Amino acid sequence: DPQVAKFVYDFTEGNKDLKDLLGGKGANLAEMTNLGLPVPPGFTITTDACKVYLDSGEEPVALRDEVTQHLDALEARMGKKLGQADNPLLVSVRSGAKFSMPGMMDTVLNIGLSDKSVQGLAKQAGDDRFAWDSYRRLIQMFGKTVLDVDGELFEDELEKAKHAKKVTVDTDLDAADLKKLVTRFKKIVKTEAGRDFPQDPREQMDLAIKAVFESWNTDRAKLYRRQERIPGDLGTAVNVCSMVFGNLGPDSGTGVAFTRDPASGHQGVYGDYLQNAQGEDVVAGIRNTVALAELENIDKKSYDQLMQIMETLENHYKDLCDIEFTIERGQLWMLQTRVGKRTAGAAFRIATQLVDQGLIDEAEALQRVTGAQLAQLMFPKFDEDAKVQQLGRGIAASPGAAVGKAVFDSYTAIKWSRSGEKVILIRRETNPDDLDGMIAAEGILTSRGGKTSHAAVVARGMGKTCVCGAEDLEVDTKRRRMTVGDVVVEEGDVVSIDGSSGKVYLGEVPVVPSPVVEYFEGRMHAGADDADELVGAVHRVMAYADRVRRLRVRANADNAEDALRARRFGAQGIGLCRTEHMFLGERREMVEKLILADTDAEREESLKQLLPLQKRDFVELFEAMDGLPVTIRLLDPPLHEFLPDITELSVRVALAESRQDANENDLRLLQAVHRLHESNPMLGLRGVRLGLVIPGLFAMQVRAIAEAAAERKNAKGDPRAEVMIPLVGTVQELEIVREEADRVIAEVEATSGVKLKLAIGTMIELPRAALTAGQIAEAAEFFSFGTNDLTQTVWGFSRDDVEASFFTAYLEKGIFGVSPFETIDKDGVGSLVRNAVEAGRATRPDLKLGVCGEHGGDPESVHFFHEVGLDYVSCSPFRIPVARLEAGRAAS
Ligand code: ADP
Ligand code: MG
Ligand code: MG
Repeated sequence: DPQVAKFVYDFTEGNKDLKDLLGGKGANLAEMTNLGLPVPPGFTITTDACKVYLDSGEEPVALRDEVTQHLDALEARMGKKLGQADNPLLVSVRSGAKFSMPGMMDTVLNIGLSDKSVQGLAKQAGDDRFAWDSYRRLIQMFGKTVLDVDGELFEDELEKAKHAKKVTVDTDLDAADLKKLVTRFKKIVKTEAGRDFPQDPREQMDLAIKAVFESWNTDRAKLYRRQERIPGDLGTAVNVCSMVFGNLGPDSGTGVAFTRDPASGHQGVYGDYLQNAQGEDVVAGIRNTVALAELENIDKKSYDQLMQIMETLENHYKDLCDIEFTIERGQLWMLQTRVGKRTAGAAFRIATQLVDQGLIDEAEALQRVTGAQLAQLMFPKFDEDAKVQQLGRGIAASPGAAVGKAVFDSYTAIKWSRSGEKVILIRRETNPDDLDGMIAAEGILTSRGGKTSHAAVVARGMGKTCVCGAEDLEVDTKRRRMTVGDVVVEEGDVVSIDGSSGKVYLGEVPVVPSPVVEYFEGRMHAGADDADELVGAVHRVMAYADRVRRLRVRANADNAEDALRARRFGAQGIGLCRTEHMFLGERREMVEKLILADTDAEREESLKQLLPLQKRDFVELFEAMDGLPVTIRLLDPPLHEFLPDITELSVRVALAESRQDANENDLRLLQAVHRLHESNPMLGLRGVRLGLVIPGLFAMQVRAIAEAAAERKNAKGDPRAEVMIPLVGTVQELEIVREEADRVIAEVEATSGVKLKLAIGTMIELPRAALTAGQIAEAAEFFSFGTNDLTQTVWGFSRDDVEASFFTAYLEKGIFGVSPFETIDKDGVGSLVRNAVEAGRATRPDLKLGVCGEHGGDPESVHFFHEVGLDYVSCSPFRIPVARLEAGRAAS
């Protein structure tokens, strides 16, 4: 309804919770305004207006009037008019979406300057140089972002001007130089854009607003959103903010700051400051910034005020904040804040620090970390004792240990990584056009820029290793090499970079396990170094999670060694023991005999040979998991997987026949391979079907389990075996197998004199099983959702093929944001799970419910399983801490 539509909010009207509508930047500008902090006045155009524009190609009708009203009010308040000749108001037009997309979209500063008002600005400020500098910046930025002129053209012209004057930095250009530059810039606009640079300030503003709307859909913004899983339909807000000037001389400047170190979490003064400069200059690395602490010497009053404001913000947001500020002639202005991105390690440290400070509670602390961050902390690190040649040291911008071949441009990074090479992207500094290359690289290394440079911010967001500002490195992009002292690193030479220390090495540095893994393994030694501090924080957060989580976490483990490791990592049982792994190696021959058996006697003979071997496996497993449940899945894969490859065997037999010494066993094997060949083996003779078709097979496995359990009981152990039947589609299958299993168990109980309590249950991994779960629960004491097969069969996707064939296209077209094999498809597969849970529990209220398969260790899926009320998830041993943490987060 256009009557009530409101597309523009003054900074005094919004607040931090309106990010959907005002974008992050706008919502936080409003929040700071209402906190009484010095924010230059302005207003925000909503994401709704952007959505209308993107959908229809036109701005909503009401928008123009609303903007006019807010502009009038702003002008009245400032006592100036936009672009007025003698006393101009200037504004910035800034993008700002719900989720921060650093440098991905457009912002134009100094809107309102024209041939006339530049004179007025000069008079207003009493500074000609400043006015012309601002004007050339406007034409440059406006030309590039609004009129699509190649930015290099302006850069080149600026370089030429500096060269002509034999100076190196833009602050050495005087008013006359800048005035000439403005003339050249206007010429570039005219030639390239086919129109004059607009002299009407309102036209400038309106065009800039449209350009910001459109910047939502640039290729680089789209790519960034895909990478960060940000929905494509949110749109951006537009902030119109009255200008304050950091380029008014040495008592002015601009900077960025963090309320604590985003790499370590430590409290202190972190940031960069640049005197006599406008916003963009700091991040672009045009001139060398100074450390924020220096500001105390430059302008103590502003520094103290900034420290005060940073404290206010931390206490208010109860989290690490990052900040953009500008000082105009000794007056401090806040231009942006947001809850800052941080490294995985810092996330854990900060969460516990904030608990200690009493700012947040344990439940909130759990929301401040993620399983993905924990997984990142479990990556290996460089071996500090390795003999290595250190090339230099930069700023530790984003942690990790990355090794790869040096490449000096994004194109090569992409090309080489496609052909399977690991590469390190080395640049003087990165810009948004390098995004593809950064994604393709193992790590990113730059010779310029600080913790807040583009490379650093983007790499942290992607969880990619990054060292920036390694100033000893001379990066020569054109000649594709870098020099450090007398060492020359050519394209293709291997380098190693350590994003936790900032160190850069020549060659491949060996890696060692992470301290977090050492801690989980119980091998972490006491001491008082940085690693311990991190481990301490992880330890505490894990305790928070374990206290609140409802889901239990089990491991997928097939042998005692994995089981023991899983137990150290906190596993509360085994959710999936695959018995097929027990049929490989030297046992393959027995399995071949079983498959080839022509008579019952032959088959029984080979089963008898397998029995003690299986039993021993189980005894070891029950011992490792003493007192905890162990779910054993009876044989699942199609039998051909145990036989030689059909082509290889055919060739071998053919060759032998040509030499007339064909081996009888090979001939029989070949026949069997042909007999067992299936077009769709994954839908063929496997799972419960094997048990029903091959007499004695499942009985042998159940006997091995039962005898192993009896043996453990006699040894005063506490075995808790659960027998799991795979690939059941109907309760009848389960009933037949169950009857046989019950008989075998009773026999073992009778002969051993031990009472066994073996639970028998099934996997739910076929749609039919999920749909008839109520019936199946009659014969099952537990369900374990096999969501890998369930996803294959519900979607009709072959997991082994689709990822390579059409998934990329699906992901690109946005059909799904992430592979359904990685994160459970809640609407489809998930709704079958939900229904099966309800139906199963309706039949058997104490039915035990779990999930095994990849989804059990996937953060988003864990939250789903918590929500539908499963009792446990099971995942690979290494993912267990992640699952514990996410189960805790889901419950808090
Ligand atoms: P981004 O989202 O890329 O950080 P911003 O909209 O924050 O873009 O603006 C880019 C730069 O311009 C920042 O350094 C910011 O502080 C500065 N800036 C934006 N608006 C103003 C203003 N009104 N006065 C002075 N500097 C500004
Ligand atoms: Mg900004
Ligand atoms: Mg399966």
